[in-house]
Amino acid sequence: MGQLVYLDNAATTQLHPDVWKEMTPYFTEFYGNPSSIYRFAQTSSQAVENAREEIAAMIGAKPSEIYFTGGGSESDNWALKIIAETYRSKGNHIITSSIEHHAVLHTCQYLEKQGFDVTYLSVNEQGIIDLDQLKQSIRPDTILISIMAANNEIGTIQPIAGIGQIAKEFGVFFHTDAVQAFGHIPLNAEEMNIDLMSASAHKIHGPKGVGFLYVRTSVKLPPLIHGGAQERGKRAGTHNVPGIVGFAAAAKRAADHMKETIEYESGLRDYLIERIENEIPFSVLNGDRIRRLPHHVHFCFRFIEGESMLILLDEAGICASSGSACTSGSLDPSHVLLAIGRPHELAHGSLRLTLSEQTTKEELDYVVEELKKTIQRLRSMSPLYEDYLKSAERHKGIL
Ligand SMILES: *Cc1c(COP(=O)(O)O)cnc(C)c1O
Repeated sequence: MGQLVYLDNAATTQLHPDVWKEMTPYFTEFYGNPSSIYRFAQTSSQAVENAREEIAAMIGAKPSEIYFTGGGSESDNWALKIIAETYRSKGNHIITSSIEHHAVLHTCQYLEKQGFDVTYLSVNEQGIIDLDQLKQSIRPDTILISIMAANNEIGTIQPIAGIGQIAKEFGVFFHTDAVQAFGHIPLNAEEMNIDLMSASAHKIHGPKGVGFLYVRTSVKLPPLIHGGAQERGKRAGTHNVPGIVGFAAAAKRAADHMKETIEYESGLRDYLIERIENEIPFSVLNGDRIRRLPHHVHFCFRFIEGESMLILLDEAGICASSGSACTSGSLDPSHVLLAIGRPHELAHGSLRLTLSEQTTKEELDYVVEELKKTIQRLRSMSPLYEDYLKSAERHKGIL
């Protein structure tokens, strides 16, 4: 093939050319500081406010409830740390899940060191939390529930509306890390009773380094960054105008084409899942079959060491991941795979393939062929696989 097959869209996406086109004038032509008073700068401030309106409309929020940030991790940190500190007098208990992104998990661990009590909800084999268990975990001192909308590693979509309903009933704030979900599946803060939501532009064909935190008006929000009056005095610093314009352009594209994109991507996703399940022995799909992101495929292969698989796929021009870009380089199996009950041995042989609207069936056919070769080659070198075959042979003899 000789070209790149990019199947790591959960790690980041290609900036869409139309998005780039909308961004460029704000680098070169309209470079004014949106906080300046003259009319030239008003083009920039108008662009930021238009972006805010467009994004707010997408999630059923008011423009004044959208705060632009430097990305998903920052939004997650802001939501958790600031809410925890602000509402500490009300209680010091936070509920989250065991399969959150590290931007949430590590923030929770930090808060534990500050004296907060965190409950990490377990998930079922599909990676979905149990709403009854959530209800039972709520205490009088619970101030925040933070559950991701969709999981970055295994693609499972959580029952967000159900969680929002419970949070509302018990008077607890509900934050969702929607970085993988925003722009991919419908999300509505009003209908789903979401009080805080994190999203990021670079996961939806927008630029890197820009995100938003949605915060419902009724939630008290102290500043994250002290300084100028930007973002209603909550996040000081000159606006990333091209980034914000690009985020809104990407979000608008995603919203305008969401229905077709879901149809197209989920068709390809199911085709890829079916081929892998039918043609590669000892493969195990991770995540829910139905309640999963339309572009998300994740497998474990027995008798395979994940890193070697990724290296061989890379040699064939295929960009894939083991499940999370953050844990690469570490030999620990993914916390998500362990949480859904995969044994260590299986969790090590994991492969995430995340598609985009640009992915073609021909690319997937190529990937399946290369994957089959890769797995065959690695298994032929695996002592575990050899042992397995021998013992299977022995069993046949006995039977
Ligand atoms: C990518 C990702 C983040 C981090 O977003 P950045 O914009 O890269 O900081 C947070 N949560 C989830 C679920 C993600 O997939």
